[in-house]
Amino acid sequence: MTNEVTRIEAINVEYYQVPLAEVLSDAKHGDHTHFELILMRIRTADGYEGVGYTYTGGKGGRAIYSLLNDEMKPLLLGKDAADIMAIWDEMQWHFHYVGRGGLLSFAISAVDIALWDIKCKNLDLPLWKVAGGHSNTVNCYAGGIDLNFDQPKLLNNIKSYLERGFEAVKIKVGKADYKEDVRRVEAVRELIGQDRIFMVDANYSMTKAQAIRFSNAITHCDIKWFEEPTIPDDYQGYADIADATSIPLAMGENLHTIHEFTYAIQQSKLGFLQPDASNIGGITGFLMVAQLAYANNLPVCSHGMHELHVSLLASQPHSGYLEVHSFPIDEYTTTPLKIVNGKAVAPNIAGTGVVFDDALLTPHLKMSS
Ligand SMILES: [Mg+2]
Repeated sequence: MTNEVTRIEAINVEYYQVPLAEVLSDAKHGDHTHFELILMRIRTADGYEGVGYTYTGGKGGRAIYSLLNDEMKPLLLGKDAADIMAIWDEMQWHFHYVGRGGLLSFAISAVDIALWDIKCKNLDLPLWKVAGGHSNTVNCYAGGIDLNFDQPKLLNNIKSYLERGFEAVKIKVGKADYKEDVRRVEAVRELIGQDRIFMVDANYSMTKAQAIRFSNAITHCDIKWFEEPTIPDDYQGYADIADATSIPLAMGENLHTIHEFTYAIQQSKLGFLQPDASNIGGITGFLMVAQLAYANNLPVCSHGMHELHVSLLASQPHSGYLEVHSFPIDEYTTTPLKIVNGKAVAPNIAGTGVVFDDALLTPHLKMSS
């Protein structure tokens, strides 16, 4: 039965294109010049507003906007915002035939995050407490999108991460000649010293054979994980790479349903899971993956949107590392990410902790319902 107080009364969807300070590249997506941000504002009868969102690397955002504005808005108006799991499940099955992950998972994420924002505000508690309450801090690393940087620029960029207080860094790999990747990895390890944490990310650009050759060529650099060595759909291929190498494998940013994560855990011999609440069905989906990780004795990490994931990962006892992504969404909020003693600190404000600064975002607004 709908509680009249938490009945969804109004919904607004907004689409932004936010420019990056410079062009950022990786092995498979190519150049990023901006990111897309799609906001979902849900207001309930008692006047609470929940803000949810998702983002892309610059493509497909208009389709997500349409899913939210044209398809989901009519479905959601009048429902009880407190019935988060009922709404999550209904969205999955209502659009299942055209969904099963993909764009649908991005749209569901924006809705779900808005509902959790309302839930936390109603409880007058920060997300890190509502989602689990294990801690308000978590290990983090700077996730560079830097494949287009020449080696001096790459190293300067890593230095800037260390100056900001990071104790862990990740670089992109996937150059045409893998020996250049090896030289870049060796140079970064030398720069950061032996004690800092270091990961590499191929953005699924390599064949199995290339990934095995590359991983075995950087074993001496003490790499925490090798992220997305090959296409995320080749679950067995990941297991083959894991069997032939010693660096643990990580993936998750391209797994967009709980079922895909289940297959990956069963088949791929992963060392780290990296769900993204912006494309796995929001906070509800993220916490489902966190539960799967816990049950399978794997650390849960994250991809992207660090301003939100900081609270989710801090809330969990088995969190690994928060990716502090190169898309600075947090710089468009009132509480940019804080790093203290190498750890990221979750905001202590009621709600998800992500409060967008309208004055900063409005210049980038392209569409609104
Ligand atoms: Mg990645």
